[in-house]
Amino acid sequence: MRGLLPLYRGLSPLVSSPGTRAGGVGISCGFHGTRSINKAQPNFGLLFDIDGVLVRGRIPIPAAKKAFSKLVDSKGQFVVPVVFVTNAGNCLRQTKAAKLSHILGVQIEPDQVIMSHSPLRMFKKYHNKCVLVSGQGPVLEIAKNLGFNNVISIDMLRESFPLLDMVDHNRRPKLPSNPLSNLPKVEAVVLFGEPIRWETNLQLIIDVLLTDGNLSSVHQTQKMPHLPLLACNMDLMWMAEAHSPRFGHGTFLVCLENIYKKITGEDLKYEALMGKPSELTYHFAEYTIRCKAMEREWKNPITSLYAIGDNLMTDIYGANLYNRYLEERIAREDSKAVAKIATATGSTVPEVDEVENMWESEFALPSATSCKSILVCTGVYNPKAEVPSDANQCIQEMVFHGHRDFRFDPALVEPGHIVKDVLEAVEVIFEQEKFSPQ
Ligand SMILES: [Mg+2]
Repeated sequence: MRGLLPLYRGLSPLVSSPGTRAGGVGISCGFHGTRSINKAQPNFGLLFDIDGVLVRGRIPIPAAKKAFSKLVDSKGQFVVPVVFVTNAGNCLRQTKAAKLSHILGVQIEPDQVIMSHSPLRMFKKYHNKCVLVSGQGPVLEIAKNLGFNNVISIDMLRESFPLLDMVDHNRRPKLPSNPLSNLPKVEAVVLFGEPIRWETNLQLIIDVLLTDGNLSSVHQTQKMPHLPLLACNMDLMWMAEAHSPRFGHGTFLVCLENIYKKITGEDLKYEALMGKPSELTYHFAEYTIRCKAMEREWKNPITSLYAIGDNLMTDIYGANLYNRYLEERIAREDSKAVAKIATATGSTVPEVDEVENMWESEFALPSATSCKSILVCTGVYNPKAEVPSDANQCIQEMVFHGHRDFRFDPALVEPGHIVKDVLEAVEVIFEQEKFSPQ
């Protein structure tokens, strides 16, 4: 799939320094041969979307509190590993965890919250490089929290190069001014989320890309690869309190991609795209779930994941895409086993794709073998609007709102279950897993 290429590329830095582990986690969460059976211990983990599942805008969805009362014991401790996976990105995970704790009446730890930018913790290669960040909210603080040590904001660029931001006449310098070139050369660009003044960010990001990070120089016309670009949250639109969806960061990316293409004739390339439905985000979620299970000293490997969401194109597509990866991984392992036997017996060795998934080296091998998607009807999903069953018709007639680098595939937007709300989702999962917390 086209969308995987930038992700693979993006993860190459992760394996460039073997021996380093995930940011801040510092432990390996692989399970190796532990098979003791204990009925009170779960072998599944849950991934909850937030908007449309637990809250709608700022209003809590009533079923959420009831659902979470089933997920904790009398001491308020989770009886299954739980993470929250949201494409939001304009705040710190601590802030989100505090809000969730208040809404759900359950203590949520910051490391249970996976925001669209959370996988950037793993991109250690860039943590000491000079990185330009784009978005809104406390972007510098978010970047620092993710491990970046040398960060420049768009506002800092504007102040140093006052002649570059010229769209808004009122923001043009009143007096002649010279650049204050006290900023280091930009070495990578990180797009957190939609900014407030799009024209300013679009202009300055394009300037940075066309000057190879040195805004003191003019645009370079010769063809060359642009600086590494990492983007979080590809949502074209999102549902707030208004009747119709609003522009999301995906819309901003469409603008940036098209401007770059129009000016240079070349495609804008991403080092990594993260946030749902990117597999990178689900890898990070799976890894976090393994860590949460280890913290509780649960011995059973977490083999099943359930992703509960309200959006077919992000939550369901992402969970199914990750499930497909897990299935392919098992098939790959099987074919390797066949190859080993063939070698041992001297028979013809079939060609096995030896290219390991690079993120597996960073996160340790996933213990999950499946990721099932569950769609709730409390958010953007409209149960009356049927998903077309004919794939060809679907591709021809449906406008795909996913990112340029992700291909539409009707099989990926088919939920494993459709339920009324998050409480019903938890009940269905407990029933499927024959799990009764003690
Ligand atoms: Mg949602």
